[in-house]
Amino acid sequence: TSLGKVTIIGSGLIGRSWSALFARRGYDVCLYDTVSSQLEVARSVLDTLLVQWGDEDWLKEGENAQTVLARIRYSDSLAESLNKAVYVQECVPENVQLKESVFKQIDELVGDDTILASSTSCIIPSKFTKGLKHESMCIVAHPVNPPYYCTLVEVVPSPWTTPETVKKTIAIQKEIGQSPILVRREVNGFVLNRIQYAILMECWRLVEEGVCSPEDADIALTEGIGMRYAFMGNFETMQLNANGAVDYCQKYGDNIKKICLEQQELGARDLSGPTLDKVSQYLNSKIPIDKLEERRAWRDDWLKAIAKEKIKR
Ligand code: NAD
Repeated sequence: TSLGKVTIIGSGLIGRSWSALFARRGYDVCLYDTVSSQLEVARSVLDTLLVQWGDEDWLKEGENAQTVLARIRYSDSLAESLNKAVYVQECVPENVQLKESVFKQIDELVGDDTILASSTSCIIPSKFTKGLKHESMCIVAHPVNPPYYCTLVEVVPSPWTTPETVKKTIAIQKEIGQSPILVRREVNGFVLNRIQYAILMECWRLVEEGVCSPEDADIALTEGIGMRYAFMGNFETMQLNANGAVDYCQKYGDNIKKICLEQQELGARDLSGPTLDKVSQYLNSKIPIDKLEERRAWRDDWLKAIAKEKIKR
């Protein structure tokens, strides 16, 4: 029994991942693209991916690659793709004019109860949904790549998105196995990138100030705090690293504030110049540019192992 129809707009890297996730859960998926050769690529990538998922027990019990693949259709007609859709996930390239034009087209073709979600990584939703007939149904649902191992989805409403749309989007994301968080108001970088960039900028400054090498800054993450981050956040760390968070803040709060004021004084740096030379020299000797694909496969393998461990526990 189908859970309803979901339309994915754009069949690139992210559109294909969403298709697999929705189909795995039992939705009928229609994958739309303006470039028909892209749809052919998507079909073959999804065939391979779902067979792999079948082999790896990454599908629902009693299902196999064929049952899931049979739920995915491919279309180059927007009207047909959107017909009777309960949820739309837009995945076209990251360009605000393009998003605006695609949302305008979708707006003309959908019913009043369809949720219109965008995968955008950094454009706030009010920049491309204002004035649409269905603006109250528009929202950002930003995934992390690859979404089937990194399950975070940042749900970002615009000022005119209804609470009902927010609630339904979060429910659907949970239903397909993702981990949605609510970004209560529009901010640049949403939540993930704001945290990521704060860490990146500190690593950059540590190298620029000659405190440590780029390699050692990376080791501080992979062998230090990163060991925790896959299963425990900073706030939970506060609770466990003292006799509760209140005790932690009493013990360490002043020192943390002092260090953060030092960081603030050092300020944001341009990501260029001699520090970039140093960082890229280290990276290019470790991972030559012609070995990036191999290294991405290595990364995905790690992510898979961690994701499986998380599900097991
Ligand atoms: P991509 O370039 O791999 O795929 C984009 C697809 O959109 C292509 O197949 C293209 O043919 C199609 N397209 C272009 N114009 C279209 C139109 N008018 N209608 C329908 N399809 C159209 O891009 P991607 O990496 O999948 O990224 C898509 C979105 O997801 C972007 O907004 C990006 O910021 C976001 N995102 C990407 C990542 C990532 O790691 N790649 C992670 C999170 C979010």
